[in-house]
Amino acid sequence: MKIQIHGAGMAGSYLYFLLRDEFEVGIDDVRNKPDCRCAWGISYKEAKELYKKIGVNLDDYVLSKPKYAIANGIRLKNKYVVIFDRSKLLSDLWKEMEFKKVDADIEVDATGYKRAYLPKIENDRVYPTVQRIEVHEMEENIYTYSSQFGYAWAFPLGDDRWHIGAGEKSLERAKALIEKLRRAYGFEEKEASCSCTSGVRLLPPSKCRPFVKCTCIGVGEAIGCVSGFGEGNAPALKSAEILKDCLVEENFNDYERRILKEFKWIEVEHKFVDAVQQNKMIKALFYMLRVMSIERKRSLSYSPKDILSIIKLSFNPDAQSF
Ligand SMILES: Cc1cc2nc3c(=O)[nH]c(=O)nc-3n(C[C@H](O)[C@H](O)[C@H](O)COP(=O)(O)OP(=O)(O)OC[C@H]3O[C@@H](n4cnc5c(N)ncnc54)[C@H](O)[C@@H]3O)c2cc1C
Repeated sequence: MKIQIHGAGMAGSYLYFLLRDEFEVGIDDVRNKPDCRCAWGISYKEAKELYKKIGVNLDDYVLSKPKYAIANGIRLKNKYVVIFDRSKLLSDLWKEMEFKKVDADIEVDATGYKRAYLPKIENDRVYPTVQRIEVHEMEENIYTYSSQFGYAWAFPLGDDRWHIGAGEKSLERAKALIEKLRRAYGFEEKEASCSCTSGVRLLPPSKCRPFVKCTCIGVGEAIGCVSGFGEGNAPALKSAEILKDCLVEENFNDYERRILKEFKWIEVEHKFVDAVQQNKMIKALFYMLRVMSIERKRSLSYSPKDILSIIKLSFNPDAQSF
């Protein structure tokens, strides 16, 4: 079987290495080098295991392991999130990939939020993001500032370099959120060594169907494998692994079920985000407790005091706790 992967981002490049020994695989990308967006946070345990399968040692790319994630002033202990050099990891993978077109039996849409090959999603929701790299002397934590519809972040990249960015309903609102983050934590505006805009899909897999159309199969963010808080790196890898299994077994009919089963947690996180956005606070509270139990396994730990502060914040998302 010949397979053409469109998009060599997180999911596409990983899938390429999973498949290349078993199939004839081609890969293409609209870019001539990997994108450098600030998406450098990753759930360490899961990503480490997944990358091991293609011979990549994630530790070689870890830039920082922040001690805390500070969300609207609430200091939460970070358990599993590391900041990795996504750009370098993808660049190293690109050096070993043969970019070519094959006369494919199966095409894979791994084009992320662009979803360039599968049919458009009805009522799709892609939020614009803006990001830049600046130098700051700050304690190496993850800093976030959330509003009802998005959040701004500052991620430490080591050597006093920081990714500062935000995603919101519009670019103007994202930029306004960055200003709030700066004021809240003291990240004065500095000259940026790099800046760009991008987008992130804010829909769970169940709302990104179809996953398969004729001979085209979607993977990663193209089919909504990104959480309500924008975590899409490890999910992109995991979805690629599920697709690889289905391709090897020639069992495409089961692909949708396996994706929906694996990413039930993403559905829950989106339900929480939807409830907050629609001001349905009792519902938000219900989902928030489930989200916290998910995130305990993926990222942060919470004390009872943290839980109370987060509940207060959920009822007044613009409130701060500095
Ligand atoms: C600003 C920002 C910050 C983020 N931060 C985090 C984070 O800290 N942690 C986290 O886990 N997730 C984060 N995410 C989400 C994460 O980056 C994505 O969910 C993840 O990269 C999705 O992987 P993917 O392979 O599906 O898509 P991508 O990694 O986006 O790859 C898609 C690829 O397809 C290519 N492409 C596009 N159109 C075409 C076409 N027509 N033909 C061929 N190729 C095409 C693109 O050039 C790109 O290389 C962030 C997202 C954004 C926008």
